[in-house]
Amino acid sequence: MDRRTLLELFAGIPLAATLGVRTRADRVVVIGGGILGCAVAYRLARRGAEVTLCERDLIGAGASSKSAAWINAHHAKSPQHYFEINRLSTLAWRELEREVDGVRVKWGGRIEWSADEEGTRVLEEAARQQQRWGYPIELVDDAHLQEMVPSLVVDPDLRLAAYAALEGGVDPMGSLHALVAAAEANGAVVRIDTEVTGIDVRGDRVSAVRTSTGTIEADVVVVAAGVDTETIAGWLDVRVPLRAAPGVLGYTSGPGVDLPCIVAGPDVNIVPRPGGSHVIARGFVGEPVYSEQRPSSAVDEAEDVLRLIKRRFRGMDDAPLDTVTLGWRPLPVDGHPVAGFARSVTGLYPLVTHSGYSLAATLSSLAAIEILDGVSVDLLAPYRPTRF
Ligand SMILES: Cc1cc2nc3c(=O)[nH]c(=O)nc-3n(C[C@H](O)[C@H](O)[C@H](O)COP(=O)(O)OP(=O)(O)OC[C@H]3O[C@@H](n4cnc5c(N)ncnc54)[C@H](O)[C@@H]3O)c2cc1C
Repeated sequence: MDRRTLLELFAGIPLAATLGVRTRADRVVVIGGGILGCAVAYRLARRGAEVTLCERDLIGAGASSKSAAWINAHHAKSPQHYFEINRLSTLAWRELEREVDGVRVKWGGRIEWSADEEGTRVLEEAARQQQRWGYPIELVDDAHLQEMVPSLVVDPDLRLAAYAALEGGVDPMGSLHALVAAAEANGAVVRIDTEVTGIDVRGDRVSAVRTSTGTIEADVVVVAAGVDTETIAGWLDVRVPLRAAPGVLGYTSGPGVDLPCIVAGPDVNIVPRPGGSHVIARGFVGEPVYSEQRPSSAVDEAEDVLRLIKRRFRGMDDAPLDTVTLGWRPLPVDGHPVAGFARSVTGLYPLVTHSGYSLAATLSSLAAIEILDGVSVDLLAPYRPTRF
């Protein structure tokens, strides 16, 4: 047998099986088919665990189908430990894209500037800090900005912008389905239309998950149920306090819409996606955009944003508003991820965060290490559910 055939034969075999390594948690149930649930199900199955993913509705039914899906380590990601896992994830996504057929990201970086002097000062200071942390972010002047994004109408008094090279926009639904397919190819069972209704405990360990389609025995239960994580963890008296933060996005495609990178301007943000669609919103950065709008006014909001986009970019006059979404971000009360085993119940692993796309590639692989290798990953130390 030649080397190539041998490599091809081994390519489909989970590493744990190849090495004959015994994993600690054989049977893992993942609750939630969003980006976190799908990514962790894939990572676990790839390593040889017996994984069942339960999704109440369809894959991506929660926040993950209504997300800008911008992978970033923006300066709003602080302190340094939080910035670092986001930065790591910009690299981990590149690995995931190479590893899993169908995971797609439009790379190209992100350009950002501010309309006023104070905002510019903050941006410059933040970029300098990120440079000290080793992030490839450059300060560019108006001429350079115009060169990078020729269709952009640059403000006459703009002094500088910041360009972060590692960032990109995920094709969210395509990537979710690719991760599910890859998990299944590695033996995971994916049950959609399956609502988890209870978690059984024997002694102090989780033992099974009750669902609308039957009971599934489990050694570990990963609760990646987005905004419902708080309720589900609460069944076992584990606190994962969240606040839900709604956000409206518009989607546009068509003639004139072809940006080389993510543009985060002071009035509008736009994320180009693989396949030619662009996500538009008033703002993605800093504090999440809060709005109590109902879906009817979400359309007004998106139309408003598209009007601003048309003023901000040349050649987009005919860009249509294809779709509008109103999504609810799962947002831990202190703004940071919750990842790690609960203390009071053995085997319960809540996994929830804001910026779930940015972080999914890293969080899923670190969670898989903790679950399968029985170690505590230092990078996750600040994010334990036990902090609440
Ligand atoms: C408008 C908006 C813009 C965003 N922009 C970005 C961005 O640019 N970059 C970024 O990184 N992040 C962004 N986010 C955040 C990101 O989308 C979320 O953090 C991420 O999608 C959360 O994924 P998840 O898997 O944790 O949760 P979800 O996608 O919500 O998935 C949870 C799933 O659990 C299922 N579920 C719940 N209860 C049960 C049950 N009892 N049984 C079975 N299944 C259950 C739900 O049906 C759901 O499908 C944005 C979010 C919004 C709303």
